[in-house]
Amino acid sequence: MSRTPFLAGNWKMYKTGAEAVSFIEAAKPLLAGVSGRQAAVAVPFTAIAEAAKAAQGSGVLIGAQNVYWEKEGAYTGEISVGMLKAAGASFVILGHSERRQFFGDTDEWVARKLQAALEGSLVPVVCVGESLAQREANETFAVLGAQLKGSLAGLTADKAATLVVAYEPVWAIGTGKTATAAQAQEVHAFLRGELRNLLGDKAAAETRILYGGSVKPDNVKSLMSEPDIDGALVGGAALKPDSFAQIVKFDV
Ligand code: PEP
Repeated sequence: MSRTPFLAGNWKMYKTGAEAVSFIEAAKPLLAGVSGRQAAVAVPFTAIAEAAKAAQGSGVLIGAQNVYWEKEGAYTGEISVGMLKAAGASFVILGHSERRQFFGDTDEWVARKLQAALEGSLVPVVCVGESLAQREANETFAVLGAQLKGSLAGLTADKAATLVVAYEPVWAIGTGKTATAAQAQEVHAFLRGELRNLLGDKAAAETRILYGGSVKPDNVKSLMSEPDIDGALVGGAALKPDSFAQIVKFDV
């Protein structure tokens, strides 16, 4: 089963619309002719429309970093799947550890957001990851198993075709500490096994599992050479067009 590599930037709370357009204009020639992979950037809500317009025809997908599950209503400050789609987003990050840590996102919320994203044909990138304390207490697999099960609650195999999962150890995000390729592979193999238990063989074989946590141009190749690592979710190194392009071209 071949899974098209998915290399996604997560810009967090960086870049205006104009800055996003400059980035995309600079990245386009660097990515010209690159095939056999999906490049993507999750930008701030306010930059989605401009970024999506600039990215037209480039093959780079534009996405969001969060969404609310209701279609519309009195939910001050929230944004729906339909609004994201109308602005030009085609994927959304769900349950990033910064959302879980600073904004109270729970597995239950992630599961509701996931249902809404799938219903609205927005590709979901569901994040899971253990903290350093949990890893040191040998709780990594228990924590990740529970997060995955909770975040995918209610999902059925027939709806899982576009699901993307991201393993992002919290201790490796923005710290410069990357999981070794072997450490990441061990967890990815575990997560694929859990996907098999939850959704069956086909979904387990087809779901892309990304690694995130201090991915850089110089470590992406070794991570991507592992059999269960199907892409990367990249923060800091995705803010500059040249390092983003090097990551997308990890094997070129
Ligand atoms: C992230 O924000 O998802 C991330 C992995 O950040 P960084 O690459 O900067 O560690």
